[in-house]
Amino acid sequence: MGARILDGKVVAEAVKGEVASLVSELPYQPGLATVLVGDDPASHTYVRGKRRDAAQVGIASIHHELSDATNQHDLEELIDGLNSDESIDGILVQLPLPPGLDSERIVERIDPSKDVDGLHPYNLGLLVLDRPGLRPCTPGGIMRILDHYGIAISGARAVIVGRSFLVGRPLALMLASRGVDATVSMAHSRTTELASVTREADILVAAVGSPGLITADHIKEGAVVVDVGINRTDAGVVGDVDYEAVSAIAGAITPVPGGVGLMTRAMLLANTVAAAKARRS
Ligand code: NAD
Repeated sequence: MGARILDGKVVAEAVKGEVASLVSELPYQPGLATVLVGDDPASHTYVRGKRRDAAQVGIASIHHELSDATNQHDLEELIDGLNSDESIDGILVQLPLPPGLDSERIVERIDPSKDVDGLHPYNLGLLVLDRPGLRPCTPGGIMRILDHYGIAISGARAVIVGRSFLVGRPLALMLASRGVDATVSMAHSRTTELASVTREADILVAAVGSPGLITADHIKEGAVVVDVGINRTDAGVVGDVDYEAVSAIAGAITPVPGGVGLMTRAMLLANTVAAAKARRS
C-alpha cells in the first residue's frame, strides 16, 4: 500500500480559513510589510505569493521593492521606519539579500514584536526557552501538518536531516519541546552513515536542498516523511526525497510541490495576526 499523502494544500487552506475568520473579528486591519531587494526571480515569485495570500485573508500588504544597488544604511532606515509605523504588524524581508548586504544585521534590526518570520535572535531565544513567541514559518508549518493529520509525536523518534537556523534547528526544538515530546536527532553534512541514522526515524524530515538524497534505503517501514527541500531541476521542482520509491515504504509523506512550501506561506499569515493581536491588545 502506498503512503498516505499529507496534503499541504488542505492544511494551508484550513490555516488561512482560521486567519481570515480572526481578521474579520478585529476592529482594525492587520498590516504586513514585504521588503524585496534586487531581482532574484524566485524571491519575486515568493513575495508575490505571500502578498496574494495576505489579500485573500484580509491582511493589508505594503510592499517595498528596492534595487540591488541598495546599501545597508538605506535598508536599515527603511526597517526603522516600518518598526515605528503603527499600521504595520509584521515585517518580512525576503531572504537571501543580494551580496554586500548583511542579512543578520537586517533581521536583528526588525522589532521582535513584528518579526513574523520568527528569525530574530530574540524570538529564536524564546523558542530555546520554550516560551511563547513568533516561531519560524517553515518549522511552524511542519508542526501544523503533523498535528492536522494526527501524527503521534510524543515518544516518537524524529530525525531531521539539515541543521539550518531556518528549518532544522528550530524544528528540532519544537519537536523536542515539552508537551510535544519527540526524541530528536539532527543529521547534517558531516553525519556518517546517514541511512543508518534515518532508518531509526518514526518521523523523518529532510531539509537539505539535495534532490533525491533520501532514498528508500533511508526509511523505516511506516515512517512519516516530511520533505522540505525545494530543488529546481530540468524536471521541475522536486524535494530532497525520492518520492516514488519512498512512498512505497513510508506510512505518510508530504509531496513537493504541494506540501511544506504552502504551509510556510500560511504560517506567515498566522504569525501576522498573532503579532497584530499581541501588539495592539
Ligand atoms: P541550508 O543550506 O541552510 O542547510 C542545509 C543543511 O543540509 C545543512 O545543515 C547541511 O549540513 C545539511 N546537508 C548538506 N548536505 C548534506 C548531506 N549530504 N547529508 C546530510 N545533510 C546535509 O538550507 P535550508 O535553508 O535549511 O534549506 C534546505 C532546503 O529546504 C532547500 O532546498 C530549501 O530550498 C528548502 N526550504 C524549503 C522551505 C519550504 O517552505 N518548503 C523553506 C525553507 C527552505
